[in-house]
Amino acid sequence: MSSKRFLKIEPELCIADTGCRECVISCPDSALRVVDGLPRVVRVASCDEDDACVESCTELCPTGAVKRGG
Ligand code: SF4
Ligand code: SF4
Repeated sequence: MSSKRFLKIEPELCIADTGCRECVISCPDSALRVVDGLPRVVRVASCDEDDACVESCTELCPTGAVKRGG
Protein backbone atom coordinates (compact mmCIF):
# COMPACT_ATOMS: atom_id res chain seq x y z
CA MET A 1 0.00 0.00 0.00
CA SER A 2 1.48 3.34 -0.98
CA SER A 3 1.52 6.10 1.56
CA LYS A 4 -0.23 9.34 0.74
CA ARG A 5 2.04 12.26 0.04
CA PHE A 6 1.12 15.82 0.76
CA LEU A 7 2.05 19.13 -0.72
CA LYS A 8 3.85 21.66 1.38
CA ILE A 9 3.43 25.34 0.73
CA GLU A 10 6.13 27.60 2.08
CA PRO A 11 4.37 30.66 3.52
CA GLU A 12 7.45 32.86 3.31
CA LEU A 13 7.76 32.23 -0.44
CA CYS A 14 4.10 32.44 -1.39
CA ILE A 15 2.90 35.67 -2.99
CA ALA A 16 -0.81 34.92 -2.89
CA ASP A 17 -1.26 38.35 -1.31
CA THR A 18 -0.40 39.86 -4.71
CA GLY A 19 -3.25 37.97 -6.34
CA CYS A 20 -1.20 35.02 -7.56
CA ARG A 21 -3.33 31.93 -8.02
CA GLU A 22 -1.17 29.93 -10.42
CA CYS A 23 -1.21 26.82 -8.27
CA VAL A 24 -4.97 26.94 -7.78
CA ILE A 25 -5.62 27.48 -11.49
CA SER A 26 -3.18 24.78 -12.60
CA CYS A 27 -4.59 21.98 -10.51
CA PRO A 28 -6.54 19.57 -12.73
CA ASP A 29 -8.39 18.21 -9.73
CA SER A 30 -9.46 21.49 -8.09
CA ALA A 31 -7.67 20.36 -4.97
CA LEU A 32 -6.33 23.77 -3.95
CA ARG A 33 -8.01 26.88 -2.65
CA VAL A 34 -6.64 30.01 -1.03
CA VAL A 35 -7.80 30.12 2.59
CA ASP A 36 -6.76 32.97 4.88
CA GLY A 37 -4.22 34.16 2.34
CA LEU A 38 -2.46 30.88 1.63
CA PRO A 39 -3.19 28.01 -0.73
CA ARG A 40 -4.37 24.90 1.03
CA VAL A 41 -5.14 21.40 -0.15
CA VAL A 42 -8.85 21.50 0.56
CA ARG A 43 -9.63 18.27 -1.26
CA VAL A 44 -6.96 15.95 0.05
CA ALA A 45 -8.49 12.89 -1.58
CA SER A 46 -8.24 14.59 -4.98
CA CYS A 47 -4.55 15.46 -4.72
CA ASP A 48 -2.70 12.45 -6.02
CA GLU A 49 0.35 14.22 -7.48
CA ASP A 50 -0.15 11.90 -10.42
CA ASP A 51 0.38 12.09 -14.17
CA ALA A 52 -2.46 14.57 -14.55
CA CYS A 53 -0.24 17.09 -12.78
CA VAL A 54 2.08 17.61 -15.75
CA GLU A 55 1.87 21.37 -15.63
CA SER A 56 0.90 21.50 -12.04
CA CYS A 57 1.08 23.56 -8.92
CA THR A 58 4.73 22.72 -8.33
CA GLU A 59 5.91 23.56 -11.84
CA LEU A 60 3.89 26.73 -12.34
CA CYS A 61 4.40 28.38 -8.97
CA PRO A 62 6.56 31.42 -9.84
CA THR A 63 8.39 31.43 -6.52
CA GLY A 64 8.92 27.73 -5.87
CA ALA A 65 6.66 27.87 -2.85
CA VAL A 66 4.94 24.56 -3.56
CA LYS A 67 6.89 21.44 -2.69
CA ARG A 68 5.74 17.95 -3.24
CA GLY A 69 5.58 15.74 -0.24
CA GLY A 70 7.56 12.61 0.12
S1 SF4 B 1 -0.19 17.93 -6.99
FE1 SF4 B 1 -1.66 17.86 -8.67
S2 SF4 B 1 -3.64 17.31 -7.73
FE2 SF4 B 1 -2.27 18.01 -6.10
S3 SF4 B 1 -2.71 20.19 -5.87
FE3 SF4 B 1 -0.97 20.00 -7.28
S4 SF4 B 1 -1.84 19.99 -9.34
FE4 SF4 B 1 -3.50 19.55 -7.85
S1 SF4 C 1 1.49 29.68 -7.30
FE1 SF4 C 1 2.96 29.75 -5.63
S2 SF4 C 1 3.14 31.93 -5.10
FE2 SF4 C 1 1.26 31.65 -6.31
S3 SF4 C 1 -0.38 31.37 -4.80
FE3 SF4 C 1 0.38 29.33 -5.38
S4 SF4 C 1 1.96 28.83 -3.85
FE4 SF4 C 1 1.58 31.00 -3.74
